[in-house]
Amino acid sequence: MESYKDVRRKHIRLHMEGALTARDKVGVQDFVLLDAYTSESAFVDNLRKRFNENLIYTYIGTLLVSVNPYQELGIYTVSQMELYQGVNFFELPPHVYAIADNAYRMMCSELNNHFILISGESGAGKTEASKKILQYFAVTCPMTQSLQIARDRLLLSNPVLEAFGNARTVRNDNSSRFGKYMDIQFDFQGIPVGGHIISYLIEKSRVVYQNQGERNFHIFYQLLAGGEEERLAFLGLERDPQLYKYLSQGHCAKESSINDKNDWKTVSNAFSVIDFTEADLENLFGIIASVLHLGNIGFEEDDQGCATIPDTHEIKWIAKLLGVHPADLLEALTHRKIEAKTEEVICPLTLELSVYARDAMAKAVYGRTFTWLVNKINSSLVNKDFTRKTVIGLLDIYGFEVFDKNGFEQFCINYCNEKLQQLLIERTLKAEQAEYEMEGIEWEPIKYFNNKIICDLVEERHKGIISILDEECIRPGPATDLSFLEKLEEKVGKHAHFETYILYLTRFCMGEDHCISIFFRFLEKNNDLLYRHLKEVLCKSKNVILRECFLRAELENRRRPPTVGTQFKNSLSSLLEILIAKEPSYIRCIKPNDRKEPSKFDDFLIRHQIKYLGLMEHLRVRRAGFAYRRKYEHFLQRYKSLCPDTWPHWHGPPAEGVERLINYIGYKPEEYKLGKTKIFIRFPRTLFATEDALEF
Ligand code: ATP
Ligand code: MG
Repeated sequence: MESYKDVRRKHIRLHMEGALTARDKVGVQDFVLLDAYTSESAFVDNLRKRFNENLIYTYIGTLLVSVNPYQELGIYTVSQMELYQGVNFFELPPHVYAIADNAYRMMCSELNNHFILISGESGAGKTEASKKILQYFAVTCPMTQSLQIARDRLLLSNPVLEAFGNARTVRNDNSSRFGKYMDIQFDFQGIPVGGHIISYLIEKSRVVYQNQGERNFHIFYQLLAGGEEERLAFLGLERDPQLYKYLSQGHCAKESSINDKNDWKTVSNAFSVIDFTEADLENLFGIIASVLHLGNIGFEEDDQGCATIPDTHEIKWIAKLLGVHPADLLEALTHRKIEAKTEEVICPLTLELSVYARDAMAKAVYGRTFTWLVNKINSSLVNKDFTRKTVIGLLDIYGFEVFDKNGFEQFCINYCNEKLQQLLIERTLKAEQAEYEMEGIEWEPIKYFNNKIICDLVEERHKGIISILDEECIRPGPATDLSFLEKLEEKVGKHAHFETYILYLTRFCMGEDHCISIFFRFLEKNNDLLYRHLKEVLCKSKNVILRECFLRAELENRRRPPTVGTQFKNSLSSLLEILIAKEPSYIRCIKPNDRKEPSKFDDFLIRHQIKYLGLMEHLRVRRAGFAYRRKYEHFLQRYKSLCPDTWPHWHGPPAEGVERLINYIGYKPEEYKLGKTKIFIRFPRTLFATEDALEF
């Protein structure tokens, strides 16, 4: 194995600040060091050069840009992890481990909280990055025997949540269909002692419908492929996923790139480590199986146009697994209770409404069970023995999505990204300016697009899109997606960003087939209505998990629950509060091509991502001030050999040593500024020259 020193020397020579020829071939490892130009083409060129050399990571200052290699590169070994441990950020090639290590070191030395925000579009490598970080901590952090279980639970929460929250999509075979924020808690010695997970907006609609080439959540297929014979018999399930309507609409239930049987083993093992009892599993899989049975219920129409369920085979299974009365369930799926003045009237549902009720039940049951699962995992990650804890939060959140047909989910996801982008811009600028101020350095703030205006358009009380949507949802009389669109135009149509922001919503709305209500469905998704009748049945369930998910209090509370949009808005605002109180690190993931293939670098696709990830903007901010800064001690340590006054030792104050050194090697006044604790270098070339000088 190469020693640290060897790697470091080679790296310095070859990558970052080494000879120009080498730099030309493999690009620079920090975009801030791109000399003289900051064009998007130069950016893409640099990324491509590095990608072609399998160098998937590049910095913009302290932000890490990562391009998904779609192949195993052998860069995540234990010896790699050891290499990055406790090493100064810029001394080794960029790596996700450097980001993790840097946050960890700062947390340990300053006893403050951190977060690492990982963003990028679907398939760009966010979840993989977050797993690599977690593994890095698991391997490199100090550990005691008694805390190993806490570490294992943290690690194994991943396969469980992925089984229930991830699915194959056309973009990614393991696409996260929920947002995830995970705090890893450390004690004062830096030992990981526990954790806490918050999930955001799981894509429930997938439970009942998948587009062509897509699957339902992994867990369904894993259970069928890997579940023990007795378990399947107990659940009334067959092995073949094609037999289930909810699993086969995307026509890829059996996907060769996914090994459901193996994954089932991983998940089963994880369950036992995370403290799930056999009773928990029986209840949990009872729910999963009943969703499959629900999907197979066949409705027919009687002479009056009312829905009936001629074959009650599935109903019986669901009733058994959920511990509800079969007749109650049957009635609730085909009838609706309407409250008249003094009494309740039971009205039959049409076939269409029955299907709607059934799907709503499947979605509600799955969605709430997912929340239960997260809570259950959290209770196994709690560690009450440690009161003084610091945390590193990992945020793996869905990136911007623009499809041919976009809906309510895309609206929420993109709004979430706007909020996080705003946080990044403000924090980066603020941090940059605060540093200059602290160091007593003059600087001219640069202009940047503050996307607060877009966030306001979506979230402002009474005036924003979410409020307008909520109003449409509650107002009496026939509200439709079209009337919502008209309201939007009336109220925010003149907004400078209305066109661009909701263009993607309207584009398909006005599409060829004019199927507004089929694809648009904003009102329906925002309402997320589950008929009261069904809720009543579920509240009486004997399945312990379900009983925790459907509380009687909900029935007694006659107030309308907040809409999905409003709930999401509120949960985002709490997320931002969590993040604002912590020190940030950022990872921006880029997808190199749309075909999940290695070694394919699609310029067009990448440019697009660079744009909406705001990378050029970030680079500009970084370069507007000083490209490079370093503490006097570190700068001196590195370059002291260049000046006879400082070599081999300098005994005076480091700042003075640095001044002697740069005077000796001839820095011009416009090239640098001396702050209180750091030297700031304006141009990359100054640094290159200094580095090159080391070579002689
Ligand atoms: P989504 O938003 O859909 O959840 P994502 O950004 O989380 O997408 P990942 O699931 O992390 O994307 O990555 C997609 C796939 O790309 C992985 O399953 C893996 O095959 C490959 N991949 C991602 N990152 C890496 C990496 N660093 N090394 C090797 N392969 C990777
Ligand atoms: Mg993911």
